[in-house]
Amino acid sequence: MQVYADNAATTKISGHALQAMMPCFEKFYGNPSSLHSVGQEAKEVLEDARAKVAACLGCEPREVYFTSGGSEADNQAIISAARFGARKNKKHIISTAFEHHAVLHTLNKLENEGFEITLLDVSNGHNVTAQQVKDAIREDTCLVTCMYANNEIGSILPIAQIGAVCKEAGVPFHTDAVQAVGHLQINVKEQNIDMLSLSGHKFHGPKGVGALYVRRGLPLVNVIEGGAQERGKRAGTENLPGIVGMAAALADACANLEENNKKVTALRDKLIEGLSKIPHCALNGDPVNRLPGNVSFCFEGIEGESLLLLLDMQGVAASSGSACTSGSLDPSHVLLAIGRVHDVAHGSLRLSLSHYNTEEEIDHILKVVPEVVSLLRNMSPVWRDLQTGKREYIL
Ligand SMILES: *Cc1c(COP(=O)(O)O)cnc(C)c1O
Repeated sequence: MQVYADNAATTKISGHALQAMMPCFEKFYGNPSSLHSVGQEAKEVLEDARAKVAACLGCEPREVYFTSGGSEADNQAIISAARFGARKNKKHIISTAFEHHAVLHTLNKLENEGFEITLLDVSNGHNVTAQQVKDAIREDTCLVTCMYANNEIGSILPIAQIGAVCKEAGVPFHTDAVQAVGHLQINVKEQNIDMLSLSGHKFHGPKGVGALYVRRGLPLVNVIEGGAQERGKRAGTENLPGIVGMAAALADACANLEENNKKVTALRDKLIEGLSKIPHCALNGDPVNRLPGNVSFCFEGIEGESLLLLLDMQGVAASSGSACTSGSLDPSHVLLAIGRVHDVAHGSLRLSLSHYNTEEEIDHILKVVPEVVSLLRNMSPVWRDLQTGKREYIL
């Protein structure tokens, strides 16, 4: 049996999204900036896609800027707020310690340019509170950027409350909602979100396309220079097939949100309940406010990489944290941020589900994970030391 349980890394494109893309290669291949009718037809298709995305976010179409993905949207939102903040001598930015690297590395770059960055602590409850944001805001704060939901451990942040705090303080609020869009009910106006990043391939759309929502009136700088596409804020001929595929996938995801969530949450809870029976393990992330498809555990005495390889041999595609940290020997910054010590953080497993997963697949995972964990523990010198009392259990 083959089980794909790495949907937080990327998802399979839906049949409908793929179908929606095809005419963009064959019929609507014009450049939306061209004045002839072939170009203008493509422009109409582009604007129709923009309207669909806007409808899912609860904003106006003109507030949606298409990008090459979530990373670019994060970069542009943060750099924009920083540039405009600096003009008013506001060079303080608030974020969280468990953001995606697209956010953290952009903040590092700004820190090297003289910005001051406050990363909120997430060790308490594997989440942040709006009060933490409120306490961190200063006179010179030019941006609060907090992810909507964490890609590794699934915690959903109190976005509406954070939005309210930022609005009251008059500080722009950006959220990296790449894991949330298409999975959670979002309304940028009701939640007081000023900027929001999303990515097509995290909700069964194509890769290499995303969007940035920016509240009307909020200034935006372009990070890609060139032509006047996207109201002059993002140069480059529009990736029309990608944009159309993403919009189709998002419209489907929003239309079926409740039904999909009900199904995926039930699978998730069955998986969490079953895996919790493995001795000396712990669930990572907020146990209550949690993404419908996220299951994240640490198992003591094993090594996440070996676990993944053995699971792959059993047909299960999973992850040890985020796809971005694999290949490096450092444990995930997210697991360290929530207070897992190095040894424990190394023994992590993330299973991220979608509505394409079935109950039979969950049963298969529940059969093989405990087997593989005990196999690895039986070979582990760390586990032997734990069993003989030479070392103390942490979990
Ligand atoms: C996947 C992901 C990104 C990056 O999106 P890309 O479209 O792959 O660039 C950013 N933030 C989060 C939380 C993600 O999960």
